[in-house]
Amino acid sequence: MNNLNQMPKVELHLHLEGGAPPAFIKGLAREKSIDIAGIFNEDGSYRFADFWDFLKVYEAACTTLTGPQEFYRLTLAVLEESAASGVVYSETFLSPDFCGGGDLGAWREYLHAIEEAAAKAEADFGITLRGIVTPIRHFGPEKARVVARCAAETAGRFITGFGIGGDEKSGALKDFSWSFDMAREAGLRITAHAGEWKGPDEVRAAINDLGAERVGHGVRAIEDMALVEEIAERGIVLELCPGSNVALGIYPSFRAHPIGEMYDRGVKVTINTDDPPFFHTTMAREYEMLHQAFDWDEGVFAKIARTALDAAFCDADTKTRILKTLEQAHG
Ligand SMILES: [Zn+2]
Repeated sequence: MNNLNQMPKVELHLHLEGGAPPAFIKGLAREKSIDIAGIFNEDGSYRFADFWDFLKVYEAACTTLTGPQEFYRLTLAVLEESAASGVVYSETFLSPDFCGGGDLGAWREYLHAIEEAAAKAEADFGITLRGIVTPIRHFGPEKARVVARCAAETAGRFITGFGIGGDEKSGALKDFSWSFDMAREAGLRITAHAGEWKGPDEVRAAINDLGAERVGHGVRAIEDMALVEEIAERGIVLELCPGSNVALGIYPSFRAHPIGEMYDRGVKVTINTDDPPFFHTTMAREYEMLHQAFDWDEGVFAKIARTALDAAFCDADTKTRILKTLEQAHG
């Protein structure tokens, strides 16, 4: 279905460094004489065995991103890829841990470079970017406080949200509530990775302990139908990443992914790539695979894109502008 490729898409769950094309990281490593050959397969793709190995490879790839200029180039490279898939609006997770090690002055410089690249990408490729600041869960609650301060100080038109990523099996979400409270008080909207590697209780913790209005993944809520019902009733939005889940072996195939059942049960599902080149996917591929798995047509995808835009953390003017783009295409 060729039209799916061209449909305008809205993505809410993308890690900026996780969107780095492997050739881009390889090129940076060569420029800087950093030896990370071990993280690549012979065909040039990223090599990892499981999720925890993926986190290590991800962090190794990040060692090549040594300054704001590298993040400028990264942002342009990632947005060009997203735009090629038809993405017109994207929210990306940004980690001050990888952008200046939590130093506020350094973070501002990285952010300036990322925003400049985003403005260029908007002019060149017609894609709008907003940022969600995320501490890394396995770096611990203390580092998260430093990250929350960076987020609160730079909250505004570009930085619109606060989340948490990393290893879900590390610590408890409630240990991070101080950071989330600070972010919320600064006007940031809240999302949290939960229910990818842990079950329904973790999704409950994201909603109840952190006040998440969106949940990153949240897919394993499917193991508790009362929770699925509650999520649907409360209008909690799930940032689902089917290709990521299949690549990491949480579900054996797109057909077996709960997104179909959740959609049928009235859950506000959205479609996202997470870390696309790591999981050999793109937004266009996600659409194509979901079309094949569930026979979803353009009407379903248009509805899901609209759900994603409604759940976007950007300001009302930006939303209205993107809505026009969606409506022009969908009629
Ligand atoms: Zn993620």
